[in-house]
Amino acid sequence: MKNLVLVLNCGSSSIKFSVLDPNNEVVYLNGEASALNLDSSSIIWNTKNNKKISVCKKFMSHNYAIEYLCKEILLEKNSLLFSKIIGFGHRVVNGGINFKKSVLIDNLVIKKLEKCIFLAPIHNPLNLMGIKKFIKLFPKLHNKNVAVFDTSFHYKIPKMSYLYAIPKEFYYKYSIRKYGAHGISCNYILQKSSKIFKKNIKCLNVIICHLGNGSSVSVVKNGVCIDTSMGFTPTDGLIMGTRSGDIDPSIIFYMNENLGISIKDIKNILNNKSGILALNGKSSDFRHSENKYYSSEIDKLTITMFCYRLAKYISSYFFLIKNKIDAIIFTGGIGTNSSLARKITIHYLNSLNFYIDNKKNQKKCLDFNFINKNDTIPILVISTNEEIVIAKDTFNLVS
Ligand code: ADP
Repeated sequence: MKNLVLVLNCGSSSIKFSVLDPNNEVVYLNGEASALNLDSSSIIWNTKNNKKISVCKKFMSHNYAIEYLCKEILLEKNSLLFSKIIGFGHRVVNGGINFKKSVLIDNLVIKKLEKCIFLAPIHNPLNLMGIKKFIKLFPKLHNKNVAVFDTSFHYKIPKMSYLYAIPKEFYYKYSIRKYGAHGISCNYILQKSSKIFKKNIKCLNVIICHLGNGSSVSVVKNGVCIDTSMGFTPTDGLIMGTRSGDIDPSIIFYMNENLGISIKDIKNILNNKSGILALNGKSSDFRHSENKYYSSEIDKLTITMFCYRLAKYISSYFFLIKNKIDAIIFTGGIGTNSSLARKITIHYLNSLNFYIDNKKNQKKCLDFNFINKNDTIPILVISTNEEIVIAKDTFNLVS
């Protein structure tokens, strides 16, 4: 029976892909091209019954990884599985003002997506590249591609949170506002939390820290996102792998007017040369500084700054839901795996009754773990699953 969906999730440093049945959530093929554009890049994938296959190739590009997935993994090695696919679900980071929910992709949608590139300069071009490649390489299924947006989750953020204090035509004429990101992950985390707490989503009050190569924190009140750290683009907010997060906008004018750096170069600096990479001077991979936290001052400062900025956001969001907070939730590559990042962040929040149980915090998270001390506010680690959310939306739109 044809009932499978292929999900393509192009992140800034990784491409995750899976073929799954959205109805029973069984995964038939699963893989990831990781550390893209670094010398440690590789693709690892496995089918339901087979062992892991790993292909290492230094400085693998996003383009190479997608071609390898389509030609080698799907058409060559898994053609039977491929014949059961009814649609492709693509994660798109920022849909701007045009897309408030998932859509079937046609030429008009592609044109509108091209107009949104500036809203997520690192991600949207990669998302579009995936979409165009799939349409080209699988012409029989060209009208079965679906875009699922990270921004949809944040559309109910109230005006007082999403407007910038700049002349109003920039919002009314040019749609400049906070859009947020990581909404697909937040969507999954909310659904999962609803099961964990046995509570209707509409009654959930949580702070979700999605910490990966890109990082953001969002606050959810009664099941609706009311604020988030990413802004007009995913450059805003927390310190990230290669992105600066919050900076005083005057730094940009100073760089341009006094230091003679072009706007194009500044954009590249703030998106690709800043964040963790700029702070430790070596690698955007959080593990690099985590491993040297106790032996190198620079790496200690890098991790401390990351956690301090995160704690500042959490504490300001805490006051929006403090009387009914269900949990702080950590997810994403760093949030799920770095006990050190969680420990340092929560240390800054002790006075708000957040305390980590060190033993629980060390446990590897396979699905979800509570890591707080007894009788303190719940702190949860949840492995996110953006693929399930994308697959379900795709199935509903193509079938
Ligand atoms: P993306 O934003 O590209 O989807 P991920 O959510 O996969 O990224 O997260 C990637 C980040 O997670 C990288 O910075 C990586 O260093 C970090 N990470 C992965 N595993 C670990 C780990 N065991 N400890 C600390 N950080 C980790």
